[in-house]
Amino acid sequence: MMTMSFTNTTTTSASSSQLASSQRITMRGGQASNNLVKMRAQHAFARENRRHASSLVVCAGTGKFVVGGNWKCNGTKDSIDKLCASLNSGKITADVEVICAPPMVYIDRVQSKLKAPYQIAAQNCWVSKGGAFTGEVSAEMLKDANIPWVILGHSERRSLCGETNEFVGLKTKYALDTGVKVVACIGESLAQREAGDTLNVCFAQLKAIVDCVTEKDWENIIIAYEPVWAIGTGKVATPDQAQEVHAGVRKWMSENVSPDVASKVRIQYGGSVNAGNCDELATKPDIDGFLVGGASLDGEAFVKICNSAAHSK
Ligand code: PEP
Repeated sequence: MMTMSFTNTTTTSASSSQLASSQRITMRGGQASNNLVKMRAQHAFARENRRHASSLVVCAGTGKFVVGGNWKCNGTKDSIDKLCASLNSGKITADVEVICAPPMVYIDRVQSKLKAPYQIAAQNCWVSKGGAFTGEVSAEMLKDANIPWVILGHSERRSLCGETNEFVGLKTKYALDTGVKVVACIGESLAQREAGDTLNVCFAQLKAIVDCVTEKDWENIIIAYEPVWAIGTGKVATPDQAQEVHAGVRKWMSENVSPDVASKVRIQYGGSVNAGNCDELATKPDIDGFLVGGASLDGEAFVKICNSAAHSK
């Protein structure tokens, strides 16, 4: 559990040297050669944050740590059964909420196998009531099938399926009104980060949701900050990089929704989180959990990531 602290961090969290040092993109897999790209990204982000830093207020999250596993379009009956067995045999000892999102066709199977504390999420749902929408699944169907959560606005759906900010906002509202809670994903591409647009991109994605939902709806929304350049690439954001954006998002929520919602809303970090980097990321005050892709397919690693909640402050 995190404690709330309101601090003016104009000098403590936004000095340009700190920002510059916090903006290293951790390169793995032998791609560390592009120093120029890294420097451009560092300078752009530092510039952008100086613009946003004049009255930076940090209010750390107060919500329960929450870890999601996005299994994406992976698995067979056999591998899914093995994953469920591995998750059930793992010991989750930390105070953490855990949500697994299997492929739609296996949800029923997973639901019948996974034990508490695992909850289930769908990876998508339609924007309105079901009907003549071939290939889609409606929020009513999720509700009927006792699926409490849905992930919306994942960058893969934004980029590959053309989902706009506005569409994600509408989907979010429809799911919430139907009684399905939402993990709403936001995050910038590498080009947007290099152009100094990280926070503006995140704010625009959030605004499209804020424009559709009520203040009360935020009780049932988790924000997942997932920089696109970190998803499935092995290039995890450094803890400082992630914290910087999470703090900016929380400040924006405070100013554009309410300080109460800003302190309570949980902001997950997603992008190449694994068993080795989760503990350090979890120590950051505005990181309230993780959304995990690749590593969520490994039961042992995922349980370790869930238990990193013990390191959260
Ligand atoms: C994701 O797709 O939500 C994700 C964070 O993937 P990965 O952990 O593999 O980067």
